[in-house]
Amino acid sequence: MARIYCVANQKGGVGKTTTTVNLAAGLAKIGQRVLMVDLDPQGNATMGSGVDKRQLAHSVYDVLLESATVRDAKVRAEKLVASGCAYDVLGANRELAGAEVELVDVERREKRLKLALAEVEADYDFVLIDCPPSLSLLTLNGLCSAHGVIVPMQCEYFALEGLTDLVNTIKQVHANLNRDLKLIGLLRVMFDPRITLQQQVSEQLKGHFGDKVFNTVIPRNVRLAEAPSYGLPGVVFDPSAKGSQAFVEFAQEMVNRSGGA
Ligand code: ADP
Ligand code: MG
Repeated sequence: MARIYCVANQKGGVGKTTTTVNLAAGLAKIGQRVLMVDLDPQGNATMGSGVDKRQLAHSVYDVLLESATVRDAKVRAEKLVASGCAYDVLGANRELAGAEVELVDVERREKRLKLALAEVEADYDFVLIDCPPSLSLLTLNGLCSAHGVIVPMQCEYFALEGLTDLVNTIKQVHANLNRDLKLIGLLRVMFDPRITLQQQVSEQLKGHFGDKVFNTVIPRNVRLAEAPSYGLPGVVFDPSAKGSQAFVEFAQEMVNRSGGA
């Protein structure tokens, strides 16, 4: 059965999408079967997997509104096949922004994604969900579907403060909606060891969260930032780049932590 993880942080631009697509590619590279679910109407994770969000026959929007199943709506990231890093994509585009409003009156609106994913749980080792930068109904659908949350974060001055809201949300969802949910870990991203403040915040994080801080650190690396414009995860775009290697290492750490192969 698949391990289902949300990549979440209510802040924008912290590296959620980069983490989702590169972890997906990294897991695929080490032989894991992966479904990547894009829950952000911006559709960056879809495009960053080489799938054109404007050409989707069905998207996660149709799945949430129950007009398509996950099996119908998912597509293979064909551009990644040659590299051996291919995964399936349940894509998103602007249409998804409307789901928030359209779901307001439906029953069990926060459980729509969970129910839909049940159909394909046996087909994958990992399902990764890229969440939007908010604690909205879309993110709530992600959190209700998942076994855990991966939180990418930059080691900046306000990093710890920003975490409080997210940790409280995870606690509330755990208490009221999804007993399976836990914080899997904090992933330090865009890390620059030359910056003293980043080292200090990194130490603070470890002091506070202990082994909830992943061992792998993702460095700031321009190749990871360039890759999306080619419609590829960095891991595929430039496998030798430091950032790409770090994501493959992170994939291995996730497999080890998940008690898998
Ligand atoms: P989010 O999904 O949280 O909004 P993104 O993954 O889109 O964040 O990242 C925000 C920006 O930072 C993007 O332009 C991305 O290419 C860049 N970025 C992310 N991680 C790295 C990294 N490790 N090194 C350099 N640039 C990065
Ligand atoms: Mg994003």
